Amino acid sequence: MITVSNLHKYFGELHVLKGVDLEVRPQEVVVLIGASGSGKSTLLRCLNFLELKDEGSIVIDGQEIDPATTPLNKVRENVGMVFQHFNLFPHMTVLENVIEAPVHVKHIPKAEAIEQARQLLDKVGLSNKGDVYPEKLSGGQKQRVAIARALAMEPSAMLFDEPTSALDPELVGEVLEVMKGLAADGMTMVVVTHEMGFAREVADRVVFLDGGTIAEQGPPGTFFSNPQHPKARQFLSRVL
Ligand code: ADP
Ligand code: MG
Repeated sequence: MITVSNLHKYFGELHVLKGVDLEVRPQEVVVLIGASGSGKSTLLRCLNFLELKDEGSIVIDGQEIDPATTPLNKVRENVGMVFQHFNLFPHMTVLENVIEAPVHVKHIPKAEAIEQARQLLDKVGLSNKGDVYPEKLSGGQKQRVAIARALAMEPSAMLFDEPTSALDPELVGEVLEVMKGLAADGMTMVVVTHEMGFAREVADRVVFLDGGTIAEQGPPGTFFSNPQHPKARQFLSRVL
């Protein structure tokens, strides 16, 4: 589904991604962990072309994406992204938020988009919130709207960058439940999170990033019980 080879990214002099190789298979859930500043967000943003790589290749759905020749909007339609801060449009209702891109980017007839949005809101447990403005919602509800909005583009993969980090603790579970449901439905997902319980339960593979390279990866059972890399051990001893 996604194949990243020898990915390098610099911000000026700062070498942030130092040759990342990562393959994500269809329907796989990859949880990406690592210390703050290790390059997790940058890697996700490169996968969605919010940041452009300096070197290496990114193949999505069998197609190598060259920003010079591939319309990036098309790629972004195909790879949904959910951020720590939900970035909902405050002046639009929940339903309007969800249909915005399908109607204005994909040019789906509005009635059809509304029907689909209602189904998605139902899926994330917000079927009664379509006419409400985001300010009336809790953080957990906003994040579930953000997930529905990303799904409305019918992406073939979803990227999550710390989707629960900005939430009050009691609201984390409802968002993780929605993500678990997506995983169970077979969505291909790359998730940056500090929720190790989620990683253990839902991830097919845990990838540990250290200083812009993948230091260790493996199935959660193996990785959490017997990490090999000293940095991975150190990281886990701090977060578990
Ligand atoms: P993580 O998500 O793992 O905390 P990031 O990918 O956000 O790490 O950041 C990796 C490094 O790149 C950090 O040193 C950060 O300060 C730097 N960085 C991230 N984005 C930018 C940017 N737009 N401009 C300059 N430096 C950046
Ligand atoms: Mg980050």
